[in-house]
Amino acid sequence: MSLLEENIANIKSRIKFAAERAGRNPKNIDIVAVTKTITPEIIQKAVDSGLVLLGENRVQEARDKKELVNGNVQWHLIGHLQRNKVKMALDLFSMIQSVDSLPLAEEIQKRAEQIQQTIDVLVQVNIGREKTKYGTDPDNTKSFIEKIALFPNLKVRGLMAIAPFKQNPEDVRPYFRQLREIFENIKQTHIDNVNMEYLSMGMSNDFEVAVEEGANMLRIGTGIFGAREK
Ligand SMILES: *Cc1c(COP(=O)(O)O)cnc(C)c1O
Repeated sequence: MSLLEENIANIKSRIKFAAERAGRNPKNIDIVAVTKTITPEIIQKAVDSGLVLLGENRVQEARDKKELVNGNVQWHLIGHLQRNKVKMALDLFSMIQSVDSLPLAEEIQKRAEQIQQTIDVLVQVNIGREKTKYGTDPDNTKSFIEKIALFPNLKVRGLMAIAPFKQNPEDVRPYFRQLREIFENIKQTHIDNVNMEYLSMGMSNDFEVAVEEGANMLRIGTGIFGAREK
């Protein structure tokens, strides 16, 4: 087994144990392999090892790499999207996990309508209310979703958040729990054109806690590919 395959097996077994602790089925938990800065050759190896969801932060970088990776894979945008790159993003990604403002959502709607396409999106929540992070305010997330639910070419499928960084992953538990509560609250409201299916939270450092708190989509980079060079 290569190191990459070992890493993937290790992540999967840790997900399984965390899911079992929480009484959940690990099959319902998707891994998005975060491939920023990773070369197409290595991404291909990860795909050949069975990973099917790939997450990129930058539109341009994804465009350069996407044509070099073969297989039945889906690319998700997980980084902040500038409005002038929406058109290109719609060409590349099956899901935009980082919808964080009304002007961005409006631009996505406009561009998607022009090409008669619908796009799955997650709404990014700034769950730690950090100045350095993008995302809707936790208190306004529901009203934000009620607004963008009116955009017919944009399908809200859930929420995404990056928890504040903590040395001890146990310290992020309250943030994950809050996000889960917001998720459930919106889900129970049954907003037309909104399907609350995905709760995208948890990264290499904290995914086990995220699983225990209800995440069903994990975004994992270094845990799979090793430390990134800057
Ligand atoms: C880089 C990144 C990740 C993965 O981080 P790791 O700590 O390498 O697992 C997840 N989500 C987003 C939005 C990222 O930018």
